[in-house]
Amino acid sequence: MTAAREVDLLVAGAGPAGMTAALIAALEGLDVLLCEKSEQVGGTGATSAGTLWIPGNSQSRAAGFDDSAAAAERYLDALIADRSRRDLRTAFLQTGPAAIDYLAARTDVQFVPCGRHPDYRGNLPGAAVAGRAIIPQPFDGRLLGADFRRIRPPIPEYMLFGGMMVGKDDMPRLIGRFRSPGNFVYSAKLFVRYLVDRLRYPRGTRLMMGNALIGRLFHSLQKRNVPILFGAAITDLVGDRNGVTGARIRVGGEEIVVTARKGVVLATGGFGHNKKFRAAFMPQPVPEHSMSHHGNSGDGVAIGQKLGAGIAPERGQGGLWTPASRTRRRDGSEGLYPHLTLDRAKPGLLAVNSAGRRFVNEAVSYHDFVEAMFESHKVEPSIPAHLICDARFIAKYGLGDIHPGTRDLRRHERRGYLMSGRTLDELAQKIGVSPAALRETVARHNRFAETGADLDFGKGETELNRFNGDPDHRPNPCIGALATPPFCAVAVWPADIAVSTGLATDPDARVLDADGRPIPGLYACGNDMASIMAGAYPGPGTTLGPAVTFAYRAVMHARDRRAH
Ligand SMILES: Cc1cc2nc3c(=O)[nH]c(=O)nc-3n(C[C@H](O)[C@H](O)[C@H](O)COP(=O)(O)OP(=O)(O)OC[C@H]3O[C@@H](n4cnc5c(N)ncnc54)[C@H](O)[C@@H]3O)c2cc1C
Repeated sequence: MTAAREVDLLVAGAGPAGMTAALIAALEGLDVLLCEKSEQVGGTGATSAGTLWIPGNSQSRAAGFDDSAAAAERYLDALIADRSRRDLRTAFLQTGPAAIDYLAARTDVQFVPCGRHPDYRGNLPGAAVAGRAIIPQPFDGRLLGADFRRIRPPIPEYMLFGGMMVGKDDMPRLIGRFRSPGNFVYSAKLFVRYLVDRLRYPRGTRLMMGNALIGRLFHSLQKRNVPILFGAAITDLVGDRNGVTGARIRVGGEEIVVTARKGVVLATGGFGHNKKFRAAFMPQPVPEHSMSHHGNSGDGVAIGQKLGAGIAPERGQGGLWTPASRTRRRDGSEGLYPHLTLDRAKPGLLAVNSAGRRFVNEAVSYHDFVEAMFESHKVEPSIPAHLICDARFIAKYGLGDIHPGTRDLRRHERRGYLMSGRTLDELAQKIGVSPAALRETVARHNRFAETGADLDFGKGETELNRFNGDPDHRPNPCIGALATPPFCAVAVWPADIAVSTGLATDPDARVLDADGRPIPGLYACGNDMASIMAGAYPGPGTTLGPAVTFAYRAVMHARDRRAH
């Protein structure tokens, strides 16, 4: 059966990019339809940390952190050079702050500045230590009523007690809950709120990070009565390279042909789970793990390509990465824990390849860590690599899916997550590396811990390293000895948190054909759009900052188009 529908703007994909586009379209007076393949909003965005990299944003400026688009442009020029179009980067820097201000002034999508949150390549000109990252304000999911269930939950590894979200600022207070009356009261309040929530909701309703961003976008869409079609997948476009006039949507057993007078916005989240595209656009050997939403099967890129759209970059890294360990969840399913910021930079951890040798400054960004894995793997098998520490480290800082304060490690060994040995030799045998090499690596690293100077990889030398280290540890906040048995190891694999290759666009997010000409009426944003960072990772919020900015630019351009 084919039914027909007509709107001004059709948006495909209800992640941060698509929801932003639909919300702005409604605010601009367009008749908009948002279609989402799954039964929930949020996509990967709901499971993300929710940070946006927006250089020169006014929220940070108001908090006293000065920045300029010119400095950020120098930084991106140094990092990316001509690997992406410079006019796209300029458009991002010019419009990002305005897009955020627009949302802040007219919707519930409110952000707070992160303050100090260093860029990931602090040695490059124009890099900043503070002022570029913003995060969504926590959101009270109870405001959504029964529709709270429509918000995709975070990964289980990011929740406590099977459903309680905590933010970065909560963690020191929860860990130190018995250290001060203030911390105790704070933690008790969080816990009581969670218990009360669980009487009525499937999980806690105090939403943080990416879940707060999605909750805020969803609430704002509801307030403006923006229709969202759930279980509705875009399958094809109507039109050709000379103009797109609508799309085909499969919903239930039915096909709807939607005519879109002003255009179609593709925001289906990229190709994280499309084997063919992974093989074409990612490094070899193709990483097997993706942390993107399982429904991100490259639909937007595929239908754009079918119409004649160009892909950028055609060859390249294709992904933005994190090291991830494999977890076994309580229900028996497999999960992935992203080692983003909590453990790698802390003193007393090192990473080794199959030769038992370090190959990286463990405290670099998650993306750079995996890039180093790829490099090392060319010489010595480094996929998986192992993060090594001692039990004292885990008790103090946690390790991946094992929370700080954990002293009894047996459960984690039984579920196959952690390996341990009473000696380094025993651990080396369990993880399959040379005992002599591991002993030597740890001994050398322990000497660095005494002097505070990592002569091999310079750990602890950058602002980013120290930001994620332990400020109370001396002389170097990122280097500590591995001295107290048992010694422990967790295996890590490369996993993409976002793809970087996508549909080529111009600065208004108009999709370009293979000859570089805009296809009238077709837009792409989020991970369907080729990343302006071209496989580089400048700082916290590298994908969500551009996702929101280009959603805004796409809609403003579509608004001003003459309807066909
Ligand atoms: C653990 C983790 C932490 C992260 N933290 C950050 C961070 O702090 N900052 C940052 O910038 N980035 C972060 N990211 C990356 C970020 O989450 C993604 O880049 C971002 O969510 C991409 O947004 P999107 O809207 O393009 O896609 P998604 O958020 O993946 O949404 C895509 C949506 O499209 C839907 N869809 C798919 N196919 C179709 C179809 N055919 N028709 C209709 N709908 C369809 C999907 O179901 C999904 O709902 C993180 C990622 C992970 C995994």
